Amino acid sequence: MAGKYILARCSCGFATGGIIGKRVSCRRCGSNKNLVTESTYETGRELASSIKIANMPQHLRSEFYDRIKKSKSYSSQKENVDPSKSFTKAITELANINSEISMSDLEIYFDKNGHTKEDLLHCVGVAEIEGILSRAGPGSWIVLDF
Ligand SMILES: [Zn+2]
Repeated sequence: MAGKYILARCSCGFATGGIIGKRVSCRRCGSNKNLVTESTYETGRELASSIKIANMPQHLRSEFYDRIKKSKSYSSQKENVDPSKSFTKAITELANINSEISMSDLEIYFDKNGHTKEDLLHCVGVAEIEGILSRAGPGSWIVLDF
């Protein structure tokens, strides 16, 4: 049987979470008449992440699912790829003419190569300590030496 948490979609398009048996009203427009239960969940945590996805614009949603799929298929071979090697490659490839590099570029690169954001943050941290990167602003660095 289904869980006790429900995800209900309002006629305005917004998804709101609730508990079975309790009245749910839309968090966006406040209506409690036009909500249709879309799915049910066992835990509040599952519900919460589903609400987040349900309220994403359609194109972001499919990108999001793609990313989940990708990270899952990569995870089995993740051990074979050394994140620090990808990182060195990334900064040589991504640094612009001013030797600047941005977090968002690194994130895309790391994602493409099947690494997690944690791996990336770790590599950035090490590179800062080693003097390879110098922070230039929030989310950007100057590549000093590589
Ligand atoms: Zn609504």
